[in-house]
Amino acid sequence: MTQPSAARATQTANPTVKRAIVPITGLDVDSPGRRDYFVSFEHPTLWGSYLVPVTVFVGPEATPGQGLVAIGSTHGNECEGPVGIKRLLQDITQADVRGRIIMIPTLNVAAFAAGTRDTPEDGANLNRVFPGDPKGTITERFADFIQTRIFPHVHVVLDLHSATNAFDFALVSSFHYVADKVQQRKMEETARGFGTRFVMVYQNDTPGLLTSTAERMGKITIGTELGWGCTVCPEGVSMGMQGVLTAAVQHGQLRGNVPPNRHYRREEQILIDNSDHGCYVHATRAGLYEPRVNVGDLVAPNDLIGVLHDFDAIDAPGEEIRAPHRGYILCQVRARVMRGQVLSVVSVPKPWME
Ligand SMILES: [Zn+2]
Repeated sequence: MTQPSAARATQTANPTVKRAIVPITGLDVDSPGRRDYFVSFEHPTLWGSYLVPVTVFVGPEATPGQGLVAIGSTHGNECEGPVGIKRLLQDITQADVRGRIIMIPTLNVAAFAAGTRDTPEDGANLNRVFPGDPKGTITERFADFIQTRIFPHVHVVLDLHSATNAFDFALVSSFHYVADKVQQRKMEETARGFGTRFVMVYQNDTPGLLTSTAERMGKITIGTELGWGCTVCPEGVSMGMQGVLTAAVQHGQLRGNVPPNRHYRREEQILIDNSDHGCYVHATRAGLYEPRVNVGDLVAPNDLIGVLHDFDAIDAPGEEIRAPHRGYILCQVRARVMRGQVLSVVSVPKPWME
């Protein structure tokens, strides 16, 4: 059984890579070979450009419209995706590439440099502005680049997120329900390749998402939450790398067998669904949230999952927060909340589609 050289994974620095600076029209995604670019986006005020690193691998079996893209730092303070994709730039060997693999470790370089979720220059959330605007703000131009220059050349889209500061969050891969059941089944299988314990299906009402946009174009689209707290979770990095390589092999873009699963076994994985708004437990007052269960715990209907303390009523016992139904604790808010904020999400287990 041979493994793709990516799975043999040696971390050798490659100081010979010299990135060509090109406009968005300058990417070659068709000629065989590896090309390392900085795609330039004119800065809104400075005499200069934002440089987005994009690496394109094209193998001998590449066909139009078929390929895989892995994207990190759609949000600038989510670290596992950028680290994992950066490492894969060293691990993937051109000789192992069959089709087309496009790696973008830090898409929103403006937010990434600032360490913020949103783009400082325009205050926009890149994951709310798809399909973007070629003449819009810098965030809208990043989205338009993906929409018009990347999506047409790939059929697999992996958007690696983490859960930042607000919540303690289970590590998950994720997708939405789509009408096309063949696409749905492929997404479920691709999501399992990350080796996360939970594979999450979630609501699809939020406008402007990168993943929803790709899903509507019929692409096999996976999101993740591979950590939280603006730190680098090693397990999340490893899951991200495994998921990208597994998808690349599964979908015909990389030679060899899928890499060995370093994380949850198939029989340990659980499909959870929080697409129903009833899964979201909201605070009815401001306060400090004290969880009484752990992220990942299975709870029964009406179980005590936490207490919301009001320190203006210092002698009151606090409001008991109870599970709305049977399910898994997907996340818990990190302490201080305002009225209306989500305290916890209780996700419902569902059967696999397979
Ligand atoms: Zn994110």
